[in-house]
Amino acid sequence: STELEDLDRRHIIHPLQSAAISDRVVIVRGKGSTVWDADGNELLDATGGGLWHSHVGHGRRELAEAAAQQMERLEYFTSYQEFGNDRTVELAVRLAGLSPGDLNKVFFTSGGSESVETAIKAARLYHARRDEPDRTWIISRYYGYHGANYGSGTLTGFPPMQLGVGPNLPHVEKVSPPYLYRAAEMYGDKDPTDFLIDELEQTIQRLGPGNVAAMIGEPVMGGGGVLTPPADYWPRVRQVLDRHGILLIADEVITAFGRTGAWFDSARRLMEPDIITTAKGITSGYFSFGAVLLRDGIGDTIIQDMGFFHGYTFSGHPVGAAVALANLDIMEREDLPGNALAIGEWFKAGLAPLADVPTVGDVRVEGAAAAIEMVTDRGTREPMAFPDVFGLTARIRAEYGVISRPYAHNIILSPPLVMNEEEVRRTSTAIVEVLSRAAR
Ligand code: PMP
Repeated sequence: STELEDLDRRHIIHPLQSAAISDRVVIVRGKGSTVWDADGNELLDATGGGLWHSHVGHGRRELAEAAAQQMERLEYFTSYQEFGNDRTVELAVRLAGLSPGDLNKVFFTSGGSESVETAIKAARLYHARRDEPDRTWIISRYYGYHGANYGSGTLTGFPPMQLGVGPNLPHVEKVSPPYLYRAAEMYGDKDPTDFLIDELEQTIQRLGPGNVAAMIGEPVMGGGGVLTPPADYWPRVRQVLDRHGILLIADEVITAFGRTGAWFDSARRLMEPDIITTAKGITSGYFSFGAVLLRDGIGDTIIQDMGFFHGYTFSGHPVGAAVALANLDIMEREDLPGNALAIGEWFKAGLAPLADVPTVGDVRVEGAAAAIEMVTDRGTREPMAFPDVFGLTARIRAEYGVISRPYAHNIILSPPLVMNEEEVRRTSTAIVEVLSRAAR
């Protein structure tokens, strides 16, 4: 394994890699919520394959078989223009049935960033086709995560993603997130939703209501640290946008397919989106795949005239669709959205002792997604520096064999939705013990 690690170091640039990170863990196998490294060390995966994507867990033969059967029958033939394939038809019908409202049109992609790019192009084109070509601005939110490409990366509200690689996508404006732990510093003594709605309205007025195409937001912010908005937030955002003819894009790349306990979290938050972006859990990571769901009226409008001149070589991949269908079968059969809710309750109980750890500012749990917000001081709420958070997760892994994920100043938990009570307890214990000892 040392040789593998050395070769990895010599040849691979990892996403978000910095020279300061010297750890290298080469994962070679997985089963359920467990993975093994090249030395045979067993690790409990509390991150769902690292990036919230493993819903049905690792090593599912059923998904491997679905992929193999489809590869043998037809690996891929383009779905451009007049061509299509049976698997994507079946999947599109299934997605239309699961999704809220009249989001019955589906555009397939190879992942989340592509889904977001597709959504913003579709939103701008929709307005252009309706003789409102000035509607070009897209509103997103600080702390939102929407991808790493130029469009999706510009919408993303983490400054490091945009530093040194500009110019970024023009006509993107960011507003504040619903971040209740930091309500006092962000909103003063105003009601959070009142503040956020006023800010949104002012932003729209400044840009010119006739110049705004869409707002994009995650129903519950994932990468930003599992930020659940107040119950009246999305309904009031929707009202403002409706008043100005602005589309709402729900970025459900993390939340769709059960992560927070619902097939589509936007439905639960009364968001009523016009477009939904998905990826990750749609195949549980067994295939790089995504889908964008659009309202009938939007889908019908963008294919008029010149058509929707957009698409990727692997848009509508039948192997991805076959895997997604088998994945959805497992999730329905095993009621994984239901288990996500149980995981949330187990985490709330298991992580409760963190209330006594002075470096833990806040613990937020939303189904099978959790964030532990680390601070240097509970009074000032000063965020802990990333290298220190990274160091804590490295200790949790080294001392207890549990993988959690450091992101900004949060420790993120997003286990496979199949995780059982004992595994959640083991994860919680490891975290509580390491954080308690480190804070002494
Ligand atoms: N949107 C959200 C909400 C995400 O969390 C992510 C990935 N973390 C993306 C979009 C981008 O997806 P991908 O990394 O598959 O391009």
